[in-house]
This record gives sequence, structure tokens and C-alpha cells, in this order.
Amino acid sequence: MSAALPSVSGKASETYDVVVVGAGFAGMYMLHRLRKQGMTARVYEQGDGVGGTWYWNRYPGARCDVESMQYSYSFSDELQQEWDWSERYAPQPEILKYANHVADRFNLRPDIQFNTRVERAEFDESAGVWSVATSGGKTVTAKYVVLATGCLSNAKMPDIRGLDGFKGKVYHTGHWPHEAVDFTGQRVAVIGTGSSGIQSVPIIAEQASHLTVFQRTANFSIPARNAVLTEDERQRFREKYPEIRRFAREEARNGIYTDLPDRGALDDGDNERRAKYESRWSKGGLTFMSVYNNLALDKTANDTAADFVREKIAEIVKDPQTAKLLQPNNHPIGSKRICIDTDYFATFNRANVTLVDIKSSPIEEITANAVRAGDKDFEVDALVLATGFDAMTGSVAKIDIRGRNGQALNQKWAEGPKTYLGLMSAGFPNLFIITGPGSPSVLSNMIVSIEQHVDWIADCVAYMRNHGLQTMEADKDAEDKWVAHVNEVAYTTLYPQANSWYMGANVPGKPRIFMPYIGGVGPYRQICNDIAAKGYEGFVMAGAEQKRKVAASQ
Ligand code: NAP
Repeated sequence: MSAALPSVSGKASETYDVVVVGAGFAGMYMLHRLRKQGMTARVYEQGDGVGGTWYWNRYPGARCDVESMQYSYSFSDELQQEWDWSERYAPQPEILKYANHVADRFNLRPDIQFNTRVERAEFDESAGVWSVATSGGKTVTAKYVVLATGCLSNAKMPDIRGLDGFKGKVYHTGHWPHEAVDFTGQRVAVIGTGSSGIQSVPIIAEQASHLTVFQRTANFSIPARNAVLTEDERQRFREKYPEIRRFAREEARNGIYTDLPDRGALDDGDNERRAKYESRWSKGGLTFMSVYNNLALDKTANDTAADFVREKIAEIVKDPQTAKLLQPNNHPIGSKRICIDTDYFATFNRANVTLVDIKSSPIEEITANAVRAGDKDFEVDALVLATGFDAMTGSVAKIDIRGRNGQALNQKWAEGPKTYLGLMSAGFPNLFIITGPGSPSVLSNMIVSIEQHVDWIADCVAYMRNHGLQTMEADKDAEDKWVAHVNEVAYTTLYPQANSWYMGANVPGKPRIFMPYIGGVGPYRQICNDIAAKGYEGFVMAGAEQKRKVAASQ
């Protein structure tokens, strides 16, 4: 429901309690919570369906690296008891099906407007509302704006000379076509060896007549050991859900239920340590990094895990020169997002796969039919760009957001994102960010972090309504302290030693700031809860009366 009101620009406009930007997992749950507490909300989504990152990332082999029984909503017990995940790690089509199921089950679609981008959001100080302009040329007003724009949703095209003149097909993994792409009989180039490249390479290699992989930085990857989930396995999980979800929220640092290590890598002798790494390697998955409690903190400890993986690569890859190139050697293991694969390294044993080291011989240009590197032309019919995202801030930056005094968020964040708790930025009242920079977000099981933020924001706006409050914003001092804390905690770890997208290092010109909060989802949740319990300490809240006085004195 909405009412017609004059907008800032004077044109008739709809007005909502909340405008939500994005209908991925964050936007959908936000809408559900707001509706449950009787608020009006409009969700704008640029795609023509729900699912966010799982709507766009349809590349071959795309699947989640968190186990499906955990990478799922926990807010509805009926939902988590009823949904049948087919595999240990759900493939992209199944996650998208789940997102659509959620949209239907909770009747979310009537409040989502698809094929619509939010272009601009401007805070009207006198009215205390946001004016939101969309790609359809329409402007609506809302008391609150929630950015559910996703951390990895702004696909980054590489700046390579000649790319536009390539005559074959060009695909970006983060913006994959909806129709099936079949590389049978084609010569294909994959540029980029992050998670997306590592997942797609084995599948493309099976189809292509020849696959050339262009690698700038070798990456650590652990076998996924994906498998079909049996009904027994699903049932065991479901019975334990209350404990699994509680643990993921409160005790796990990354929102994943697993055994927590009680010792460091150097507390064990060589044989014992090796046995533990072997056991996790056989088990597969992200929890490889949880064998010991100091792998992210102590370089010598980290080296033991990194050496183990390098040895595994050398065992799997038959050609010693290729194996050497595939062994990561310029960053600690885990300091870049660790990859989870199915047969990635073994794929380089295939006769139709070539690895090209573009660290030593960078790509010079792309011609009409080839990738030119090291003075050599690699002729290809199709290009797959697995070159990643302008992460965490890229999708926010695409919206022209104006806060108090017309200040642009992009201008405020020019030296790097500044938020209080990753939830709000000073000078931008009533504007919330879900899993924004300065929160655990991408260092965690995203759905755990999304649910935590959505619940916190929903509780916060209910509090404001119950207390007759009109605006809320981060206090500048609290924000500065939080930004310093996020930075300080990051630099107690090995993470800043890598040129990663966590640091903004993959986007030329982007400020080098460690963007996510590495303090752990459990401690972070406690901080957020304590702040709320203290009447939203560090936030400035103002009532309608105060707002009127401020307006009168202007
Ligand atoms: P990414 O990790 O940023 O990897 C991009 C790759 O492209 C890197 O190898 C990078 O090399 C290379 N690259 C970038 N620009 C290049 C250029 N101009 N020339 C040559 N190479 C270039 O991106 P991603 O693989 O899409 O993954 C991003 C994140 O998405 C992951 O870390 C993960 O969090 C998430 N993700 C998750 C899954 C999953 O759940 N399984 C799957 C896919 C993605 P450098 O390293 O040298 O910069």
C-alpha cells in the first residue's frame, strides 16, 4: 500500500515506509520482516527475477562454497525443514530455485518491482524523507532506504586493450547469459583464476576443443568433495538445526557450524599436523582453514598449511612446470578467499588444456581472434572473463546517493568506505546497508550475516516507530572509532598481506582498505546487540518534534 504525496521534485509520487534496493537474499528477507511488522515497502530489482548473486552468476560449475544445509535461511523453521537440498554444495540453478520458492512461499513478488534500477536517492532534510529515483523515470519517497545491493554484484570487466574488437563471444562469469552456453568444439580462453575461474575451468575443459587458462595469480584451492545428500544426512541436520544455527550465529567466527580448533599449528609435531591436514583435505571444503586456530594470524603456522596444499598440487599435476605455476607463492593461504573446487588442478593434466602465466608475460592485447601474451597469439573462439567484482562498494557506488547538505556518498567514501558497524554512514540518516563494509559480510556465511543485519534493522525501525523517532544516523565520532577498530583488527591478521578484493586491490585506483570486519560473526553480533540494548549507542536519533525545530531554525 502506498499513498500519493508530492515528491521533492514536485511531481506526484508514491510513498513507502521503506525502499529496499535489491531482491537477493538480503532484500527478500528484509521485505518479509518489514511486512510482518506492518510497514509498507517497495523493493527495486534490476534483474527480472529474485536471487541476486545467484541470479547473475550462472557460469558453468557455479555452486556455493558453503554447505547447502547451512547456506539457507533459518528464519522459518518450516522452510528449513521442508526444503530438500540435493547435494552437499548446491549448484547455482538449485539455489536460484530456492530463492524463487522463498519469494512464492512468502508472497514477496507483489512488493518487488523487477527490471528497475535505483539511480538516485536524495535525503530531503526538511521533510526527513528519502526521494528515490528509478530507471523507469519514477520518483518515490520513503522514510528509510535499505541497500540490499550485495557484496559481489558489480562484475568487473578487465581493462585490456582490444577487448571490444574481439570477434568471438565474450562472457563474464558474474553476468552470464540466461540461455545455456555450449562450448563444444570451440577454442576457449578463461582469464582469471579466482573462485569463479576455478569452478568453471573443469567444466569448460570437458566441452571445449581447447581451453587456455590465463593466470595472473595462482590461488589456493581445496577439493569440495561434493556429493549427493541422502535423506538420512538431511534429516540428521534438520534434527540438529537449533544447535547448528545457534552455533553459527554465536560461536563460529565465520557463521559456519564446524569443530572449533583448540590449538595452533606449531603445537603439533610434523606427523600429527600432516595427519590433520590430510584428514581435512579428504573431508573437503572451507573448513580446511579451521584445522588450527592460528592459521590466519601466524605466518609460520600458515606456511605449514600452505606448504601442504602446494605439495598436493605437485602430486596432482603431472607436468612439473605447470604444477609450479599453479602453486601459489605470493600470499598466505586464506588471505585471499580460499577456493573450493572439483578437479581443478587435475584438469591441467588434460591434453586440451594449456596454462599461460600472465604474471611473467602479461596480456598485451586482445585481437579479433586471439589473446596476445608474451609475444604469442593464443587463437580462441570465445573469451570467458572470470575477473571478479568491484566488491562491497561497487554496487553502492553506482547509485547517486545524497545525504545531508547534498553530500554524495561516493565523495565521502572516496578514500575508502566509512561506516558505523557496516550498517550506516554518518551524514546519511535512515539509510541502512545490509552486510556493508565494516561488517563481517564476505568473511562469513553470507546468509547468517544477512539475517543478523535484517533483524537488527527491522528491530531498529520498530524501536523508532515505538518511540516516535523520525531520524537515525551514525555519530561521526562513533563511526571514526569503528573504522579504526575494523582496520586495527585486520592488521592483527595476515589478511592485509594479500592483494585481494577484500583490500580493493583488484580494482585499479580503488583505495586499499581492508573492507570487511574480521572480528568474527559471534563477537560482532554481540557488539550490535549491546549497542541496541543501550538505546542505539553511537547513533543519533531525533524525534519529529526536534526535526520540526531544526527545520524552523533554518
Ligand atoms: P576474484 O576472486 O576477484 O578473481 C578474479 C581473477 O581474475 C583473479 O585471478 C585475478 O587475478 C584475475 N584478473 C582480474 N583482472 C584481471 C586482468 N585485468 N587481467 C588478468 N587477470 C585478471 O573473482 P571471482 O573468482 O569471481 O570470485 C570473487 C568472489 O566471489 C570469491 O572470492 C568468492 O567470495 C565469491 N565466489 C564464490 C563462489 C562460491 O561460493 N563457490 C564462486 C565464485 C565466486 P589477480 O588475483 O592477480 O588479481
